[in-house]
Amino acid sequence: MSASLQKGIDVLKEVIDAPVASFFASCVHCGLCAEACLFYTETDDPKYTPIHKLEPLRRVYSREYTLLGRLGKMLGLSKPVSDDELEAWSELVYDSCTMCGRCSLVCPVGNDIVYMVRKLREGMAVSGHAPQGIQEAVKRTIEIGSPMGVKWPAIQHVIKDQEAETELKIPIDQPGVDVLVLMSSMEVINYPEYLGALAKIFHKSGVTWTLSSEASEATNAGIQIGVSDLAREIVARIVNAAEKLGVKRVLSPECGHAYMAIRWEGPNLMGRPFPFEVVHVLELLDELRRAGKLKMKDQFTTPVTLHDPCQIVRRGGVLDAPEPLLRQVVSDYRPMPDGNKWNWCCGGGGGASSIQEPAAEALRFKAFQVKKRQIEASGVNTMVTFCSNCRIVMEEAVDHYEMKTQLLGLTELLAAHLED
Ligand code: SF4
Ligand code: SF4
Repeated sequence: MSASLQKGIDVLKEVIDAPVASFFASCVHCGLCAEACLFYTETDDPKYTPIHKLEPLRRVYSREYTLLGRLGKMLGLSKPVSDDELEAWSELVYDSCTMCGRCSLVCPVGNDIVYMVRKLREGMAVSGHAPQGIQEAVKRTIEIGSPMGVKWPAIQHVIKDQEAETELKIPIDQPGVDVLVLMSSMEVINYPEYLGALAKIFHKSGVTWTLSSEASEATNAGIQIGVSDLAREIVARIVNAAEKLGVKRVLSPECGHAYMAIRWEGPNLMGRPFPFEVVHVLELLDELRRAGKLKMKDQFTTPVTLHDPCQIVRRGGVLDAPEPLLRQVVSDYRPMPDGNKWNWCCGGGGGASSIQEPAAEALRFKAFQVKKRQIEASGVNTMVTFCSNCRIVMEEAVDHYEMKTQLLGLTELLAAHLED
């Protein structure tokens, strides 16, 4: 057995805790999780059944922690997990799992598949079976501070552009303000107007805020690859910057994975509660709406539908803010079937969009077919969302299928119709 495989198996043994053991023990093999997973429904391939994606972890659990498994191991009746098997499972654990959590929602015995995928990724990463694209994103995040290699001068350039666009000052490193604003590199590169939209909304509603030159990136590639030490290092940058500035809140941007990383995984990774509150941008905007501080001058009249990002809505728990905010700015909202917590994933979450191999891309497009049906059922050509990763993944898929769908970000839409 190679040293890296041994390390990977050791990590898998370590990460098997009471919840994982009880999940494996309680699975009744009903197959309901398969029907909830977009990779299964769009391919009909049983290898994409969620519980099957965890087979290497189940094997280690069985061999090490069950009576029969230990007996089999002693008598040489069961083989340890091999390098070839882990390599074959890389596609199932990374390319075809976006950690969307839809399977966990339907499991009749409450098995949290995402929790287990996250654990299996720990062993996959250590044994060298994480995809190249995610490994590179992690390296760039650790060395440069951004999974896409965006450096602070590039962000300063965006800041200047948005200041010119909005005629508003964008604060940097301001201590004692209400909110430290985080961004994702995807927003900086693809949707820089998000920053200008925040500047307009905060100026109008009296929220004091700042960016940090030491921690602007919200995403956490360490979580996506499944290495807790790296994930902790990345979260610590934000925590240190927020504590240094003494802000009351840290604002997670229009990025689903970032919200899960800083809001839910962050305190566990750091091993302590934060002295500040973490809120998703929609939670803050809805708070402003309810306080009467987010009034519109007019409404967007084109019929729209809404894509609910998995990590913000189903997994993140931001269930009630999106629709009222959308209704605040649009006059013709047409909900799609299976909305809110039942929504289907864009196909690119959990790091899947960083995997550039042609087979992974083809699988993403195939998985998108369920979203395509949802959009078509809504009967409209404009879709609003609030996750930059979902947005870019869906823009690529919309082009691939030559659909007429136009995508809009909710924060920008609200800012564009904000009362003068
Ligand atoms: S988390 Fe989503 S993508 Fe992953 S196995 Fe479950 S349903 Fe499929
Ligand atoms: S839905 Fe739950 S119990 Fe049924 S096969 Fe999947 S993990 Fe097992």
